[in-house]
Amino acid sequence: MKKALFLVLTGFLIIIMLSCQNEKKGEIKMLEQDIAKFKPTEIAFDTSLLDQKQMMVVEKLYRTARIMDTIFLKQVYSKNMEILRKLESSHNMLDSLRLVLFKIMFGPFNRLDDNKAFYGEGKKPLGANFYPAGMTKEEFQNWIDKHPQEKGAFTSEYTVIRRQGDSLVAIPYSQFYRDDLDRAARYLQGAAEYAENESLKKYLQLRADAFLSNDYYASDMAWMDLKNNLIEVVIGPYEVYEDKLFNYKASFEAFITLRDPKESEKLARFGSYLVDIEKNLPIPEKFKNFNRGSESPIVVTQEIFSAGDTKAGVQTIAFNLPNDERVRQAKGSKKVLLKNVNEAKFKNILMPIADKVLDPDELKYVTFNAFFNHTLMHEISHGVGPGIITIKGEETTVQKELKETYSTIEECKADVLGMYNLVFMIKKGEFAPSFEREIWVTFLAGIFRSVRFGISEAHGAGNAIIYNYCLENEGYEFDKATQKVRINFDKIVPAIKDLATLLLTIQAEGNYKGAKNLIAKYAVESTTLNTLNSTLTDIPVDIRPIFQIQQMMTVQGEKR
Ligand code: ZN
Repeated sequence: MKKALFLVLTGFLIIIMLSCQNEKKGEIKMLEQDIAKFKPTEIAFDTSLLDQKQMMVVEKLYRTARIMDTIFLKQVYSKNMEILRKLESSHNMLDSLRLVLFKIMFGPFNRLDDNKAFYGEGKKPLGANFYPAGMTKEEFQNWIDKHPQEKGAFTSEYTVIRRQGDSLVAIPYSQFYRDDLDRAARYLQGAAEYAENESLKKYLQLRADAFLSNDYYASDMAWMDLKNNLIEVVIGPYEVYEDKLFNYKASFEAFITLRDPKESEKLARFGSYLVDIEKNLPIPEKFKNFNRGSESPIVVTQEIFSAGDTKAGVQTIAFNLPNDERVRQAKGSKKVLLKNVNEAKFKNILMPIADKVLDPDELKYVTFNAFFNHTLMHEISHGVGPGIITIKGEETTVQKELKETYSTIEECKADVLGMYNLVFMIKKGEFAPSFEREIWVTFLAGIFRSVRFGISEAHGAGNAIIYNYCLENEGYEFDKATQKVRINFDKIVPAIKDLATLLLTIQAEGNYKGAKNLIAKYAVESTTLNTLNSTLTDIPVDIRPIFQIQQMMTVQGEKR
């Protein structure tokens, strides 16, 4: 009897052990799959552009940016520092994989999978770590209703909310993250000492002050005034997306970049055609808009390092800052394109996509040059066409009239005009005629990159509209036998022109119903779009940057 019991128990134990092992294997496999969605890619920059003093500035900025990584980790989740220490001190394989994903996601929650936890039992709070655990929207609102004089501090981008006994208190970032921000300010002061460009020196000094005073206005203004600077840097609390409870609280981040002299020159050349581009739009004269001016400067850069909010999950390829409306009113905003990050995504994501979806005969026309010039022209095209319009004698804006359809229509317009205007630049002799095939084919492959992010989002929806519209008008042809798509070079030009007319007319007339109809008809997962999309599951979603600067600094010793 005893022997039988022993056998049964041993059997149970073995089953439990095996199932534990299987569970572990399963978890390892899942982590490996999630990590594989981000292809490790070196982000290098042209070190020869920097002299010794400028290199010192970059080094100090890098050290400041590393502090932004730390502060952002603290902002995302209350247990992040504790989890990081645990994973870093563990040596088993499971934990080392968790650590890799943790570093990609800035926390134990998968940003590509609706923030599902891949480590621990925790659930990510909607308000991240900006608010006390368990605080509800109502509680916050009630507090402000009862203490209206505290509303400013509570809704400020730059405070953290905590409990003190039965009360809620708003603590300025400068106080809450004092140790980190003190160190960051010292590094920035150090960078300012080496900076020879006066506008950069001023920005760095004012930003160091802001870390300590919690007032970012003057330094945001100074950022817009950067002039003739090689080093283009932005560092501090900016975007509010991480705060999904209210979108009030700003997350710390940094971009350290170098201005690309050749690309900047090309941009200036494109910019000189703005009036011609507006004249050339395929809409009646009365809809053209010659008073938009250049509201927002565009800069092309090479990224040296990014930190914090912007580095979590999917990598940024361009940003538009600052967000402070007072600064935007006074000086507009600045768009910064990160050329080497674009290049990395082109090589590791766009090329493999092209390989799967395009007719093999057309693959040779997929080029980075075409991809990047379209991105540039997309940005320029946001600035042409209807903006302020008159409806029934009253002045209004396209954005107000098109309401929730606005972003989709505007992104679609920028992509369509991006193509239309590049063809125009070829006619003007800015590019060789052979470039035209490259832009059509490269853009078609790019459609699938955008649609992967979902058509519920403006860029994805805009691209679905273009694909389905051009397919209907035979500018794109789907080959049933090979299950690939190709360009009809005779029909694509008129198709894109017609679509441009359609979009610009909707905007000029503030035609909300027209926008809704266009989206309902074309921003859909059509059969061939789905067929092609389904071949892309093995291609990485994004890159995982391996920064050259980080390797350079590690060699020199991180502790310095
Ligand atoms: Zn855009």
